[in-house]
Amino acid sequence: MSAIAEKETVRDAAYYATGLAKLIQCPTVVTEPFERFTQYHEVLRSVFPLTFRTLEITTIGASEDDGDLFMEMAKRVGGISDPRFQSGNPRGGNALIMRWKGKSNERPVALMGHQDVAPVDEENWTYPPFAAQIHDGKLYGRGAIDCKNTGYLSLQAIEELLEEGFAPAQDVYYLSSDNEEIGGQGTPSIVRELERRGVRFSFTLDEGGAVITDLIPGAKPVAAVAVLEKGSSVWRFSAKTRGGHTSMPPKGTPWERLAAIISDIHKNKYFKAKVTPETLAMVKGFGDALNGPSGFLLKHASIFKPLIAKIAPKISPTVNALFASVVTFTMAQGSLLPNVIPNEAFIIANLRHATHANLARARRIFEKLAKKHDVECELVVGWDASPPVPVTNPEYQYIAKTIESTIPDAAVVPFIEMGATDSRHMPQLTDCALRFTPFRLTQEQMRRMHGDDENIDIDTLPEGVAFFKKLIRNWK
Ligand SMILES: [Zn+2]
Repeated sequence: MSAIAEKETVRDAAYYATGLAKLIQCPTVVTEPFERFTQYHEVLRSVFPLTFRTLEITTIGASEDDGDLFMEMAKRVGGISDPRFQSGNPRGGNALIMRWKGKSNERPVALMGHQDVAPVDEENWTYPPFAAQIHDGKLYGRGAIDCKNTGYLSLQAIEELLEEGFAPAQDVYYLSSDNEEIGGQGTPSIVRELERRGVRFSFTLDEGGAVITDLIPGAKPVAAVAVLEKGSSVWRFSAKTRGGHTSMPPKGTPWERLAAIISDIHKNKYFKAKVTPETLAMVKGFGDALNGPSGFLLKHASIFKPLIAKIAPKISPTVNALFASVVTFTMAQGSLLPNVIPNEAFIIANLRHATHANLARARRIFEKLAKKHDVECELVVGWDASPPVPVTNPEYQYIAKTIESTIPDAAVVPFIEMGATDSRHMPQLTDCALRFTPFRLTQEQMRRMHGDDENIDIDTLPEGVAFFKKLIRNWK
């Protein structure tokens, strides 16, 4: 493993805040047309001139007949209209592959961060979402933590290393999709192109985890490095009848049967919490963040595994979601009139898979329940949890050491990403796809991701740049 060098020279928070602000001010909302992203590339070119002159740059997009996740869902869910299904940047075409040629191409690595941002509800924001204003040391704007910060910190690190005349030992890639927020074809097209070139990465590092300062009260900040992400699947349950008038309702109308299956799934825990090797590693990591007896207890969590599986679901819904698959009903459609019984009604559920409950298992459970309640069940779209990266993986350890040397007050914890990121496609290119961005945030700030008043502490930016500079400099 490469040794981690001492300190990196970095600039002050105000300097970095000005740079990040320029990225936020170009509103690359995922529903914006192609041209917006071309403009964004111009912004990147002006903020990182040396990087854009030096690195090999490929702009890439989906081919004509590629669908994207939302389009696919709209087609298959049927009947439900959402503006995102009609507009947006699903076709993309502005995903970026940037390659900084190293002395060797044997152990290349990739930094990642998508260019697009989630839509905004402008009237609910205290400060305009694309003005990138600073108030009380916080930079407000859409993309401040998801994830223009990631892109900014990585590219700024490359820019500074170039200014210092540094040449990397290994190829360093920067990969950036343009439609992550709608599960678009940006990253799949990047993956296809790199497979064609025969590139395999030692590690890839994307958004996902961060340094959460108040995750456990009284504990150290937790540098959560997501070693896997949960899977996700969309299920359609439908019930049919011959319709009829509400003045003479028959027995077992579609909604009665669908209501019964919803209540059954929510009442009975069909998806149980389980302590797997990766959740056990996470619990032990929390032990490192805590002092005293509770820290000691968690560090020896292997001894009371069955107890953890029992207690975790009771702590909070969020803790439960780390250990179990979770299901939520999200959409429904039936009759178009209040006095007409529908011929067919359907509901949509989203299941988030833990590693121990894959698609095949979910199908068995749902099909059995569908039969019991006389409804039909169909998988609309879905994928399993990604393969977990073990903490013994040398590349994981290299990243953990880099975090420890840059943010020494934090405890590095192998974490579970509960949402979906571009990184779910990366196991095709690497055995070590990790999700972590080196910036501090509170749980309150985390909740503002995709919400109103998204913001980042500008004081955290210099250590973020330092982390990426170290990460690139010491990778041999
Ligand atoms: Zn994101």
